[in-house]
Formats: sequence, structure tokens, C-alpha cells
Amino acid sequence: MNKPILAIVVPCYNEELCVEDTAEKLLMVLEDLCTKNKINSESYIYFVDDGSKDSTWEIISNLHEKNKKIKGLKFIRNFGNQKALTAGYESVRELGCDCAVSIDADLQQDELAIEKFIDKYSEGADIVSGIRNSRKTDNLFKKTTAIMFYKLMNMLGANIPVNHSDFRLISKKALNIMELYPEKALFLRGFFNDVGLKTSYVYFDVKPRLKGESKFNFLKLMALALNGITSFSIVPLRIIAVLGFIMALFGFIIGLEAVFEKIFFNNAPNGWATTIILLSCFGGLQIFCLGIIGEYVGQVYREVKARPRYIKETELK
Ligand code: UDP
Ligand code: MG
Repeated sequence: MNKPILAIVVPCYNEELCVEDTAEKLLMVLEDLCTKNKINSESYIYFVDDGSKDSTWEIISNLHEKNKKIKGLKFIRNFGNQKALTAGYESVRELGCDCAVSIDADLQQDELAIEKFIDKYSEGADIVSGIRNSRKTDNLFKKTTAIMFYKLMNMLGANIPVNHSDFRLISKKALNIMELYPEKALFLRGFFNDVGLKTSYVYFDVKPRLKGESKFNFLKLMALALNGITSFSIVPLRIIAVLGFIMALFGFIIGLEAVFEKIFFNNAPNGWATTIILLSCFGGLQIFCLGIIGEYVGQVYREVKARPRYIKETELK
């Protein structure tokens, strides 16, 4: 059997401090895997510059001049890490490869684990998901919110392992299936767990970021989580419907009781506290439910506009 062509996809946003080291280390990984006869010598690295404002793209261009195994793409502006990953997968599919591995530009994920991904691929897996052994490098807040998010997603039926990451291998078959999904805000972590292809897992240690700083803040993580939920599941809408029904039933019973008291005892109930409590609880609940529906309306709005997922400025093949 021919050895697979591997494409390593690396999203970068303002990573001038990292890319050069990262390219060097990833080239070593490719060389090592070639020597071990696990991958084809045509394998390459594909950087996606997500509209960096620093010299990231100049560095990538220089690296490409010196070594054609380093390819890349530059976005016209910043579209976010998920779009950069999507663009990377789509581009390497067009360029040609048998499987693609995505890894962060800061190499917080252990690049040496790529070998294990390739082994699983050779054993027949179409998707190999990287699972963090721990979240040591995350602060308590990020750790807790991440775990809560995955718990919630799983309650909604997404079936994503809790310490999942975007460090994954996908086969050409999976890349081709991805093309069939036209949705603009494709939630990759949910999608690859959902298509039903043979999936394996590789466990890896997360390293601290060596250079530069994290590009994710609370708002970006929130947006990622909300997109994940609204693009993946309509269970929250059903919960609202059920909740509304239960509340209506409850209201009806209370109403009956009020009428009963009025007719038979004719005493005006002194229910000041009850009224206030019911009013504020229901008011809060209604606005919360409206907010959830609003998120879905927003998702529909974005999808209906059908704007391009990203715009390429230049590509180095
Ligand atoms: N990234 C990106 N676009 C963005 C933000 C981040 O392409 O808008 C890239 C970033 O360069 C890195 C990866 O996504 O390769 C993960 O980002 P980071 O390391 O900052 O996140 P963290 O590890 O702190 O979660
Ligand atoms: Mg990082």
C-alpha cells in the first residue's frame, strides 16, 4: 500500500513569536515519520494565517521560499480559529492529501503524538480525536466552564469527550463528507463526532504556551460555546416548549384555586408576596427563554445571509 500523504494544518493568529520554531519542529516530525516509512515524502505543512496584524505572514512566506513543504494561506482579515481550521481542511483537501492533522501554532499540543494519530489512521480510523490528559495549563475558570460546556453538550446528545480538543486527524473520506455540509458556522468538534465515521482517540499532555499569549478571551469562548449549542442541537427549544406547557398547567391550577376561593369564601386573598414572587420568576424565565430563542434566530439569520465562511487573500501552494 502507498504511504499516506499527511497535511498538517496550523491556524495562526499573531503568532510571529512561534511560527518559525513550530515549522521547524513539525518538519522534524514529518522527516521522522518519513524515515519510519509511515507517511509519504510529499507530506506537507499548511499554515492558515487568520488575518494576523504582525509579521506572521512574512515569516510563513519566507519559510515557503526556503522549503516548499511549507505551504500556507492568508485570510483577508481575522475570521476566528474555527474558520481558519475549516479553511485549512478545505484547502488541503483541494491541494491533495490522504489525511490531515490540525494542531495549534503554539504547539501546546504534543506534536510528537502525531505519530500515534498516523498509527490509528493506518489501523483504519477515519477520525482520530486528541484528548487532553488534563487541563493543567488552563486556569480554574476556563477549566470549570469548559467542563460545564461539555457536560451540557453531552446532555444535549452531542457525545463529545470532555477533554476534547481541535488536535485531530481526519481522513480524506471525512474531508469529502465535510464538503457536503454547507452550513457557515460548522461546529467542528460536534460535527466530527456526529458523522458516524470510525473514530479513535489519542491521549496527549498539554504543554504551557512557550511564546506569545492566548488569543482566546472569555467572550470568544462564550461565542464558540453558544455557536456549538445552537448549531448542534434544538433540545433547548424543546425544553422551553415543555417548560411553557408545565407553567401554563401550573397557572391554570392556581387560577382555578383563585376562582374557587372567590366563589365559595369570597375573601380577597392577601397574596402580596406570592404575586411578587410569581411575577419576577415568570418575568425572568420569559426573558431567559426569549434569549435562547434569540440565539437560534441569530443562528438562522447568519446562515440565511450565506456570507462566505472566510475570504482568502493569498495562497502559497
Ligand atoms: N487562532 C486563530 N484565530 C483566532 C484565535 C486563535 O487562528 O482568532 C489560533 C492561534 O494562533 C492558535 C490556536 O488558534 O494556533 C489556538 O489559540 P490559543 O493558543 O491562543 O488558544 P488557547 O490554547 O489559549 O486556548
Ligand atoms: Mg494555545
